[in-house]
Amino acid sequence: MTPKKEKIKVGISSCLIGEKVRYDGGHKLDRFITDTLGRYFEWIPVCPEVECGLPVPREAMHLVGTLEVQRLITIKSNIDHTEKMRQWIKKKLQELEREELCGFIFKSKSPSSGIGGVKIHHPAGSHIRTGAGLFGGAFMKYFPLLPVVDDGRLHNDSFRANFVEGVFVYKRWREFLKQGASIKNRE
Ligand code: SF4
Repeated sequence: MTPKKEKIKVGISSCLIGEKVRYDGGHKLDRFITDTLGRYFEWIPVCPEVECGLPVPREAMHLVGTLEVQRLITIKSNIDHTEKMRQWIKKKLQELEREELCGFIFKSKSPSSGIGGVKIHHPAGSHIRTGAGLFGGAFMKYFPLLPVVDDGRLHNDSFRANFVEGVFVYKRWREFLKQGASIKNRE
């Protein structure tokens, strides 16, 4: 009998695997992610907004600022959650380092989880730019080599193929490094 293949650890925005963590109490379950990719990947779910201490349901937020500096602000009452989120991100990135992830699938368009194309509202008016969400952007800076994708691009054939291939390559690279370290320890 062939030994059972170990699943590859991949981070995921919690709402994409059906966790009811969205601002409106819902989720964004993606069956391709859970039913197809889930055969090969072990999910490490992350919801920045809930994990930094915000409730479900909660007021929707958006990013306000410039391309360089953004703040995470609730849309109606103008409550600024930036510092709370930044402090949580700092701790979470270190925690994720210990998980030895080989990739991450982010929820698109989220001011917290997005990795690109997230609307940034200019404080003085309606001028809108786009960029990454606070956690998604910080994650890519902290783990610059780790393959990442969002659920929107995952449904594009070439982005999906690149991402999945990248995850398998990254896994092999991790194993190679571990093997190298254990050979060195035996010398
Ligand atoms: S998009 Fe991110 S912050 Fe929003 S519910 Fe999903 S995991 Fe949580």
